[in-house]
Amino acid sequence: MKNITVLGVTGSIGMQTVDVVKNHLDKFKIVAMSAGYNIKQVEEILEMIDVEYVCVVQKKDAQYLQEKYPDLKVTYGQEGLIKIATLPQIDIVLNAIVGFAGLVPTIEAIKAKKDIALANKETLVVAGHIITKLVKENNVRLLPVDSEHSAIFQSLNGEKHQQIKRIILTASGGSFRDKSRDELIGVTVEEALNHPNWSMGAKITIDSATLFNKGLEVIEAKWLFDVSYDQIDVLIHPESIIHSMVEFVDTSVIGQLGNPDMRLPIQYALTYPDRDVLVNGESLDLAKIASLTFKKPDLDRFKALALAYKAGRTGGSMPCVLNGANEMANELFRNNKIEFLQIEELVEKALKAHQVISDPTLEQLVEVDSWARNFVLKEIGED
Ligand code: NDP
Ligand code: MG
Repeated sequence: MKNITVLGVTGSIGMQTVDVVKNHLDKFKIVAMSAGYNIKQVEEILEMIDVEYVCVVQKKDAQYLQEKYPDLKVTYGQEGLIKIATLPQIDIVLNAIVGFAGLVPTIEAIKAKKDIALANKETLVVAGHIITKLVKENNVRLLPVDSEHSAIFQSLNGEKHQQIKRIILTASGGSFRDKSRDELIGVTVEEALNHPNWSMGAKITIDSATLFNKGLEVIEAKWLFDVSYDQIDVLIHPESIIHSMVEFVDTSVIGQLGNPDMRLPIQYALTYPDRDVLVNGESLDLAKIASLTFKKPDLDRFKALALAYKAGRTGGSMPCVLNGANEMANELFRNNKIEFLQIEELVEKALKAHQVISDPTLEQLVEVDSWARNFVLKEIGED
């Protein structure tokens, strides 16, 4: 039996994790879980599975849950997150919190020698240098949940690191993949949230439309697979069937294919190095799909991708600025405070204004993150 803590259980990845676990109750147990503000969803999960610990953001929600479920151990805030991420009986922490808030619990879980199944890519973007070092020191596994990185991870099974030539990260292109730059002027939040292939949380769906998601994934891949930015190529593949590929020195390309279904990478991270039946998983019918298409991303059209490569190559605190400014701008767009194209404009301005710190500590990253968010707010007169 694998004992799991799920952080961000009420979200898109979190609920699909509950689904995977429910289908394999002989193998997995969610001992602890965290939510943000969606307490109704927490109660629904409590009806479905037995959980011992729950952590929420606000004290008042914790009090409510404790009164209603006296046997449950309820915690709240960052301290609560750290507590449930480091419980002695836990084997693996699946982190599906969105954004920078996932960083500290990941660090503490690694220090407590827990394996990590990581959906929260922002953690690696911001602090890849800290996370990878801690993973080595504590001899734990860092297992990707992001579909592209799971595909790369699976393609690397049994291969030698020095024989990797390059990683080919596929991208659906998001909601606006067929629009020209001019056509992006005035697009609405509803249009941006209408992703062609995947149903995901709001932040990552907007990130897919801007291509910041792919930019974050380039940086995530650099840290997960210890390759240089020159070895990471992005390829637009609108059908989302090949989830990513690796080319080796002999030009052989190995990729992982499947229908777009996040339950697969979630489950693989939990069963690794084994595989198990994906309950209600649909076999890939390539004859029915008939054709797969590809194209090179246009870095002028998808400026966010160019910005991410640049921030990644600069390194140090620059990816933290990219991430923090993007999180803020993404939220402002979702709240109809800025236009779609302002997201990348604001991130670019923040990157230009930042004085890079070469090997930032966690404390410095927390400061840089809040600087980047405030920078964006000031730029639009909202501070
Ligand atoms: P959602 O927005 O659907 O869910 C986010 C979860 O995090 C919710 O449980 C939410 O709680 C919780 N949360 C949000 N803010 C905080 C906070 N400040 N403190 C504690 N908890 C918080 O996101 P997704 O599931 O779509 O994505 C989660 C992560 O996985 C992201 O990093 C994303 O990039 C990554 N990912 C997602 C994929 C997908 O298919 N969805 C694919 C690949 C990667 P509540 O709702 O209760 O407020
Ligand atoms: Mg992805």
